Amino acid sequence: MEGRLANPFDIFILPIVYNAIFALKKYTILFLQPILYINSKLIAMTPKIAALILPAAFFSISLFAQENAKPEDTEYYTPVPKVVTPGRACGQAPSDAIILFDGKNLNEWAPEGDTNSTKKWVLADNFMTVDKTVGDLRTKRRFMDFQLHIEYRIPADIQGSGQARGNSGIFLASFPWGAGGYELQVLDNYKNSTYVNGQAGSIYKQSPPLVNACKKPGEWQYYDVVWTAPRFTESGELKSAARVTVFHNGVLVQNNFELRGDTPYVGQPAYHPHGPAPIKLQAHGDKSKPISYRNIWVREL
Ligand code: MG
Repeated sequence: MEGRLANPFDIFILPIVYNAIFALKKYTILFLQPILYINSKLIAMTPKIAALILPAAFFSISLFAQENAKPEDTEYYTPVPKVVTPGRACGQAPSDAIILFDGKNLNEWAPEGDTNSTKKWVLADNFMTVDKTVGDLRTKRRFMDFQLHIEYRIPADIQGSGQARGNSGIFLASFPWGAGGYELQVLDNYKNSTYVNGQAGSIYKQSPPLVNACKKPGEWQYYDVVWTAPRFTESGELKSAARVTVFHNGVLVQNNFELRGDTPYVGQPAYHPHGPAPIKLQAHGDKSKPISYRNIWVREL
């Protein structure tokens, strides 16, 4: 048979070309492998690297910003607080207050449950005195959050002991169910002891006063109160509890206390859904002489 003679191209050139291609492929792979490996590691480590680098970057930027900060960077000019003229003397109503009682009349007040009743407490000498036959007196207006100033006087010749000695109370929101509201206790606790969570300055049966700041019977005393009403959802669930801060004769007795609900005489506090509510003054049924109130004003917050 006649065979095909190998030519020089087959013998010498082709093997060189094949080897070159093989070598190129092999070394390309060997060369690319570490790059691909490093790349994949870098991608995997990206979050860690970012976690290290970003805070450092932010820190550097904030350091740079602090070094270059100007006083005016943290100063702003609006909204401008409205101007309120303070009372001339301590305890006098500021210009934006709603005057609930200035000693002249009881127009802002009504007996509980009877807005049109003409029966009210006794008005004389610029103050009003509890009439226990009339019962509790409440504001005709309703309030949510407010600052309240109110002054009271226990009769100088007060008799009785414990809870039966000049007992009254300021219900910071009043309603005709449950305990009837949230009572800030008014009582003569000048050298008269009782359960501490029921003495003057207490949120009745929830929070004793931080200190006993009572003055002697016969002297005018005062409360300054900051009241944040509770909030409820449309379905009546408690959204945020009521909070109260109270100064008694200028002394802090309740410091942003969060109420657990209303203030019953018997049983546990509970919340009952309500909106804006009157402020109520208590005509307590004890046999001691009735106390007096004067200079009552409120600022809605
Ligand atoms: Mg009371």
